[in-house]
Amino acid sequence: MSRTFSIIKPDATRRNLTGAVNAVIEAAGLRIVAQKRVKLSTAQAEAFYGVHKERPFFGELVKQMTAEPVVVQVLEADDAVPKYRAVMGATNPEQADEGTIRKLFALSIGENSVHGSDSDENAAIEIAQFFTEEEIVG
Ligand code: ATP
Ligand code: MG
Repeated sequence: MSRTFSIIKPDATRRNLTGAVNAVIEAAGLRIVAQKRVKLSTAQAEAFYGVHKERPFFGELVKQMTAEPVVVQVLEADDAVPKYRAVMGATNPEQADEGTIRKLFALSIGENSVHGSDSDENAAIEIAQFFTEEEIVG
């Protein structure tokens, strides 16, 4: 078993799609082993997406991620990171495969409904930004 970190982004929470996204996650065999709804501060969003701070879309990304509440989650499965990336679909929803979360729900490349970690190492870092070990109950 391994873990990945997920965020249901503001474009999805705003449209009341938390349950719909979770249904796709669970149908794919990922277990939601921790979950909470939070409103990110600007500092939290900037830190979370720090690798992108030189990119032209960084300001817009931080603004979007702080506009409405998000749902942060820890997901567990065999090979959780690549499994969830496959369930999410491509960053740009126009390129996402049928049945993926982004194909089903995303509005645009910026408002693409979910985040998922891109490596086991980053998953551990991201999980620790939002959850204590005691909050991950399996
Ligand atoms: P995430 O990290 O959110 O899971 P990702 O790994 O598929 O998404 P990244 O390249 O890490 O994609 O980009 C992080 C986020 O920045 C994207 O999910 C999207 O919200 C936003 N983003 C990426 N590229 C663009 C772009 N060209 N224009 C606007 N927003 C973008
Ligand atoms: Mg990414």
